[in-house]
Amino acid sequence: ATPTAVMVGTGVGASEGVLIKGGKALESAHKVNCIVFDKTGTLTVGKPVVVNRRLLRNMLLQEFLELTAATEVNSEHPLAKAIVEYAKKFREDDENPAWPEAQDFVSITGHGVKAIVRNKEIILGNKSLMLSHNIAIPMDAEEILAEAERLAQTGILVSIDREVVGVLAISDPLKPGAEEAISILKSMKIKSIMVTGDNWGTANSIAKEVGIETVVAEAKPEQKSEKVKDLQASGYIVAMVGDGINDSPALVAADVGMAIGAGTDIAIEAADIVLMKSNLEDVITAIDLSRRTFFHIR
Ligand code: ADP
Ligand code: MG
Repeated sequence: ATPTAVMVGTGVGASEGVLIKGGKALESAHKVNCIVFDKTGTLTVGKPVVVNRRLLRNMLLQEFLELTAATEVNSEHPLAKAIVEYAKKFREDDENPAWPEAQDFVSITGHGVKAIVRNKEIILGNKSLMLSHNIAIPMDAEEILAEAERLAQTGILVSIDREVVGVLAISDPLKPGAEEAISILKSMKIKSIMVTGDNWGTANSIAKEVGIETVVAEAKPEQKSEKVKDLQASGYIVAMVGDGINDSPALVAADVGMAIGAGTDIAIEAADIVLMKSNLEDVITAIDLSRRTFFHIR
């Protein structure tokens, strides 16, 4: 393609909300035969909502939610925001905006949070967080978790003084058009893979809904980029699509990094292409544009 063709291609992309940071990215896009998608905020809407709560001990719901929210209000995680929003709805005193004070707040990346609230130790997050703190997971909690995961929800375990007292089920639905985008990619002979920090059960249920067969769950940021490198080593030309800080090493490692426009600044910086409308059809728009520029197809 001539420099003029590349300029035209980049311009057409921009007019459609697909920002391509240079000719190299536009050129690489048509060679892509494998796309790695982040789950949360990329395949899903990324605005999780608490859809269910189960108390396993004889305690007031109000107190349970207050201790939980007091801990999570210190976290920036989207799941934490969902939990605080949910707890607000159950507050007796709308006039009193403050949660009880939390001390010694710690965020354990990819696992959950903990703090001391009203002299109680609150630890909440996934199963592995409980296990790493020697907190037993009772049978009923296991069953509630399994049910949530089957429904493609994320189950969050809440413990007080090292005893699991309840479970919150959180839902983050697929973006409209996600399933269609994956099926079009399949017809273009492009393999789709999902990587996520979320647990295997929930990840597999979401993958099934969207039509993706290959999943990597409970992945740390380095594992996301390792997956990209593994695929490259086995001969794939890989695009990574993501929105989070967690995704930036993988966005850099990929042959083409695509960031969701509504994502974090760090992801947008790390990417070669930015999808301003945050929809997944634009992954196809970018590849099409590259094919048209470099093959002169109309
Ligand atoms: P994702 O890739 O889906 O954004 P993360 O790697 O951020 O996932 O987190 C993985 C898992 O750790 C979450 O699915 C959740 O179970 C748990 N977790 C992380 N942060 C929190 C939090 N603030 N509160 C409760 N659970 C959390
Ligand atoms: Mg994400």
